Amino acid sequence: MSETESRDFIRQIIHDDLESGKHEQIVTRFPPEPNGYLHIGHVMSICLNFGVTAETGGRTYLRFDDTNPGKESPVYVEAIEHDVRWLGFDWEDRLTHASDYFESLYESAVSLVAMGSAYVDSLSADEIREYRGTLTEPGKNSPHRSRSVEENLDLLARMRAGEFADGEHVLRAKIDMSSPNMNLRDPALYRIRHLTHQHTGDDWCIYPMYDFAHTLSDALEHITHSLCTLEFEDHRPLYNWFLDQLKPEHRPRQIEFSRLNLAYAITSKRKLNALVEEGIVEGWNDPRMPTIAGMRRRGYPAAALRHFVTRAGVTKKDKLIEMGVLENCVRENLGVTSQRRMAVLRPLRVVLTNYPEDIVEMVTAMNHPARPELGTRELPFSRELWIEQDDFMEEPPRKFFRLKPGGEVRLRFGYIIRCDDVIKNEAGEVIELRCSYDADTRSGTGSSDRKVKGTIHWVSCAHGVDAEVRLYDRLFTVAKPNTADDFHAVLNADSLQVVEAKLEPSLASMKAGETVQFERLGYFCIDSEEHSGSRPVINRIVTLRDSWARLEQQAMQQG
Ligand code: ATP
Ligand code: MG
Repeated sequence: MSETESRDFIRQIIHDDLESGKHEQIVTRFPPEPNGYLHIGHVMSICLNFGVTAETGGRTYLRFDDTNPGKESPVYVEAIEHDVRWLGFDWEDRLTHASDYFESLYESAVSLVAMGSAYVDSLSADEIREYRGTLTEPGKNSPHRSRSVEENLDLLARMRAGEFADGEHVLRAKIDMSSPNMNLRDPALYRIRHLTHQHTGDDWCIYPMYDFAHTLSDALEHITHSLCTLEFEDHRPLYNWFLDQLKPEHRPRQIEFSRLNLAYAITSKRKLNALVEEGIVEGWNDPRMPTIAGMRRRGYPAAALRHFVTRAGVTKKDKLIEMGVLENCVRENLGVTSQRRMAVLRPLRVVLTNYPEDIVEMVTAMNHPARPELGTRELPFSRELWIEQDDFMEEPPRKFFRLKPGGEVRLRFGYIIRCDDVIKNEAGEVIELRCSYDADTRSGTGSSDRKVKGTIHWVSCAHGVDAEVRLYDRLFTVAKPNTADDFHAVLNADSLQVVEAKLEPSLASMKAGETVQFERLGYFCIDSEEHSGSRPVINRIVTLRDSWARLEQQAMQQG
C-alpha cells in the first residue's frame, strides 16, 4: 500500500494543511472528562490524536475536560494519566485542564455579554426546556432575552460572586430560538453549581458548559485540528459561532470521525460505572471490562491495542468491530513475544506403570518453536503425570487422536504412552489412567522413530505448581449491549470460570504481568492484583484460535 492509500481522511486533511502551509506544525489534544476510566473507544481517540502529531512532528495535549464537578474525581484523573502513558504516549509538559482556563473563559463570557451576544436567563430548567421547542417546532424567546447589557453584566458578576442559588440563573448565548439546529437555540454557557471542584476547589460556583469551554480551550491551546466523534457534528455550528463572535487569535478546526464500538462490549462510561457500582464486575480493572485498565490486567499488550485501532481505521462510517479482530491483534502480538510453557487446566492423573518410581528425568523443551534464540528449559518427567481431562475419551468419535482405552499418544517432549486401564470412582467418573510408556520413543533422543497422530501436554505430579486460573468470556450475550433497553438482561452469567490448574515448575518464578503461551491452550499472565495465598492467580488472555468464530459457525450450521 502506498503512503497516500493508507492515509485516512483526517490524515489527508492534515497532510494537505501542512503541504499548503496553512499550518507549520500540527497541534491536537485528547480531552477526556475525568468521570470514569478510559475504554477501547478512547484508545482510538488517543492513538489518533497522539498519532498524527507523532507522525508529523507536532504536539498533543492531554486536557482534562473538567467542567462538571459533580461527576469528576482525582481517582479518574490519575487512572487516565496512567492509561495514556501505558498505551505509549507522552504529553511532555502539555498536561492541561479546561479548569486552567476558567478565568479566561469567564472573561470571554463577559465579552459576549458586552457585545450583546449572551444574556442571563432566570427561567427554571423546566421552563427553559419548554421554551426550547422540539425538532419540529421552533422555540420561543425567554422573557429575559431582552435584558440590557448592563443588567446582564451585573447579574453575571453576581452569579460569579455566589449571590444566587443553583439554578436561579443561567448565562445563555443569544443566537436563534428558531434554528433547526437545537444546539443553536440559545445554548447555556454558564450555570451555577455550588460544588467543590476536584482541581479548582471552591474558587468557582459557576461552571462553563462543555461546548463553550471546549471551543475556547482549543483556541487557547492553538489546537489546529480538534478531532472529535460524530455526535459533535451538530455542535460544529456552535463551535464556529463562538469563534466568529470572539475572534480568538488562533482558530481551530473541528473534524468529526465515527466512534469505535466493540461487539459484545459496552463503551459508555455511565454503563461501565453501573457495572462497577452494582458489583457485577470486580472493578474498573476487571479483566472482562473493555477499559484500558481491564485489558491491561487481562494481559493485552499496549502494542496490540494500538494495532487494533489502526486496523479499525478512522472513518465517518459507524463501526461495530468483532471481538475476534481485537483478539487476533492480541494473538499476533503474543505469538511472537510469549515463551511457551506447559500447564494443565483440568487435571487427570496418569500413572506410568512401567516407569521406575524413583526416577526423575529432565527433558528439554523449546521456549519458542520459531525463535531458537529464546533457548530451552528442562522439564521434570516422572512416573505420575497430569494430563488434560479433555485429552482422554473413553468412547471417542472416530477421528479422536488423543488418549483412549488401548490407544497411544505422544507426551510433548517426552514418550509415547499407551492407555491400559481406566480407574473410576464410585460415581463412575474417570479419576486416573494406568498407562505404559515406550522407553525407545523419547522425543529427540529415542531409538525408535515410531509415530502417533496425537501429541498432548502434561505436568509431572510431583513437581507441578498449583494455580488458580481464571477463564474469561464476553460480558454480554448479544453483539450490541449498548443498544439493549436494560443491559442487565443481556449479561453473560458465565463470563468468568475459575479452575484449579497444575503448572510446570518453571512458572513458579513468573512475574506479574509476564505473558506466556500454555501450549495448546492459549495465552496467560499472572494477575497483577490478586494472590490467593501462595498460589499464583492466572488470567487467560485469549485462546489460541478464534473460538468465537468457531462457535458462531457451529451455531450457523445448526441453523
Ligand atoms: P463516554 O460515552 O464513554 O462517556 P465520552 O465521549 O463522554 O465517552 P470523553 O471523556 O468525553 O468520553 O471522551 C474523550 C474523547 O474520546 C472525546 O474526544 C471522545 O470523542 C473520544 N471518544 C469517546 N468514546 C469514543 C469511541 N467509542 N470511539 C472513538 N472516540 C471516542
Ligand atoms: Mg464526553
